[in-house]
Amino acid sequence: MAKKKIIIEPDPILRKKSIKLEKVDMEVKKLMDDMLETMYSAPGIGLAAVQIGILKRVIVIDISKEETKKNPLFLVNPVIKHKSKSLSVYEEGCLSLPGHYAEIERPAECNLSYIDYDGKERDLHAKGLLATCIQHEVDHLNGVLFIDYLSKLKKDMIIKKLKKQKKEIDQIVI
Ligand code: ZN
Repeated sequence: MAKKKIIIEPDPILRKKSIKLEKVDMEVKKLMDDMLETMYSAPGIGLAAVQIGILKRVIVIDISKEETKKNPLFLVNPVIKHKSKSLSVYEEGCLSLPGHYAEIERPAECNLSYIDYDGKERDLHAKGLLATCIQHEVDHLNGVLFIDYLSKLKKDMIIKKLKKQKKEIDQIVI
């Protein structure tokens, strides 16, 4: 496994649509291993491949709180089949938007079909934090970030701050 660099907004790649995979081969498994290591060390509870610069429809999630009992979920080609009418609100953050959080309202439950780490087709019914996390990550595969749900004013303010943060980091690197 190898830890990868996480891409920070604003970056045009985060706005691109990721591509569906034909199959889960060794290369995809390695990608998922790398993504998991990158997510754990960040630390975060979800990561989409685009966030490390790979435009493939692959997501890793682990919402287990205990360090000792890791429970990773690997989602290849996830498709949300149904979203509940009832909504829930979580304060969301994103590894590509470090330091920024906002309350986002999303469907409280969703049904999902996907391919797992072993290449098997599976279905999942998710609710609570998992449902929110899945919807946040599937958004990444479609080039959508949580700030897109905010008012233009709030969104522009966050992007402006991130741009400034990025500039400062670049200056240190130079
Ligand atoms: Zn995110």
